[in-house]
Amino acid sequence: MSEATANAPTNPVENLLRMERIPHIWCPGCGIGTSVNCFARAIEKAAIDFDDLHVVSGIGCSGRVAGYVAVDSFHTTHGRAIAFATGLALSRPKSKVVVYSGDGDLSAIGGNHLIHAARRNIDMTVICVNNFTYGMTGGQVTPTTPQTAKATTTPYGNWEDTFNLPNLMDACGARFVARWTVYHVRKLIRSMTKALKMNGFTFIEVLAPCPTLYQRRNKLGDGVAMMRYYKERSTIKNGAPTADVGLGFQDDIIVGEFVERERPSFTENYNARMKAVLGDAFVPYEGTK
Ligand code: SF4
Repeated sequence: MSEATANAPTNPVENLLRMERIPHIWCPGCGIGTSVNCFARAIEKAAIDFDDLHVVSGIGCSGRVAGYVAVDSFHTTHGRAIAFATGLALSRPKSKVVVYSGDGDLSAIGGNHLIHAARRNIDMTVICVNNFTYGMTGGQVTPTTPQTAKATTTPYGNWEDTFNLPNLMDACGARFVARWTVYHVRKLIRSMTKALKMNGFTFIEVLAPCPTLYQRRNKLGDGVAMMRYYKERSTIKNGAPTADVGLGFQDDIIVGEFVERERPSFTENYNARMKAVLGDAFVPYEGTK
């Protein structure tokens, strides 16, 4: 080993990454890598045993996260990450299950799984990287693409109403709902740590640049330009009513921790209801062996 190599600083989150897979596939200026760095630090802060952590991704640029984290991880089919994760969470209620994917994978193709996992309060943390587009498949419109923004499938500008994801998750009963941009790294790490320590369904939306497809098509500059936009136009409003945090094209952004509520998780609820019906004959469900 050369002296320069020996003295090179090591990445403090290296032990949480599959370094043999680096360099990653993400474009220069893409925000997904920053979110992964925050996630790795949050795992450390939450002091979760790697053996008890499972990361599930769908398909897309954000779906590649499962391939880079050095824990049990599953790169599943398009839109079905939450369906796979539900099976894992129910069979291993003592483990922490994290779904890490993008806005198209989670809220369009997987939208049905997303709303029902939140409604049932399945024990999982969902991290949704929202870059307003399908990156890997070519820059198509998604349910979060702001109105008037251009995509390959909306060359004259998106005219559809869009999802306000924090509001959707709030309405479905998620225990914890937060939104940050990749500019807000410390706050994002704090919210990720909090979500990782909670039971039930927790949801974090992470706004992240996609310079290659979303920004280029909309003439929004590079990754740095988007970070400047996040810095200058974001306002932190913890506890803001989620109905007020919808996003418009290059409009002001409200970020923060919006929802934190008590609710029994799916398994807790099931055990309590069955105990009430069956009495002492009921054996509480504690997962599969
Ligand atoms: Fe990131 Fe967009 Fe490149 Fe995908 S296409 S890696 S989302 S910048």
